[in-house]
Amino acid sequence: MRFIFLGPPGVGKGTQVKRLSRQYAVPSVATGDMFRSAIAKGTSTGLEVKSYLDSGLLVPDEVTIKMVKERLYEDDAKRGYILDGFPRTIKQAEALAEIVRQTHQRIDRVFYFNLEEGEIERRILGRRSCPACQQTYHLIYYPPKREGVCDCGATLIQRKDDQPETLNARLSVYQEETTPLIDYYERQNLLERIDASGTMDDVYERVRCGGIQALSS
Ligand code: ADP
Ligand code: ZN
Repeated sequence: MRFIFLGPPGVGKGTQVKRLSRQYAVPSVATGDMFRSAIAKGTSTGLEVKSYLDSGLLVPDEVTIKMVKERLYEDDAKRGYILDGFPRTIKQAEALAEIVRQTHQRIDRVFYFNLEEGEIERRILGRRSCPACQQTYHLIYYPPKREGVCDCGATLIQRKDDQPETLNARLSVYQEETTPLIDYYERQNLLERIDASGTMDDVYERVRCGGIQALSS
């Protein structure tokens, strides 16, 4: 199974992808998480991308595509993967199509998460993240067991790009660079629209009914 999760920042894709990845035992490939962990480790990619993440801009296509390509050629990705946060531009989508073609595979479906802008803002501004294990929480919708502390024990932070000053930049980058992918995948008959409102369980059910169950067998 090869799935793409598409949608605005803060829509809850990551939460669903992590759960599906455990459930169906396929790796999730989340470019945002990969970049953040490269930054935390201080690798050369990390140094290169830090300023883009901090200001809510997209990392240049060449850097992103190279990183994803290396990841998708790893052994555990042979059986499939769930992409979270990639592709985010037409150029990335074309690069992915090429990788998939070369390995004689195909993308099974693209889940497009849709949510009204006010709710997106509430979700992002209330999000708290674990710098150690990348788990995310929400102050109101999904609080940790102990206030300010991840269930793994690390202290939670608010990502710099989740702060109000950066949020608008991210939303407009999404509008300009990423929304063209909706048409792109619709034309290929791959797009499945998912209403991302409601609880995490509501959305999970919609994704399963939207075909993950049938396609994963
Ligand atoms: P969210 O899920 O809230 O949109 P992510 O964790 O997916 O946030 O991404 C955080 C940041 O990482 C983006 O704002 C961008 O700077 C960078 N990034 C992630 N994926 C990509 C990508 N496919 N292309 C370019 N930059 C990316
Ligand atoms: Zn943690």
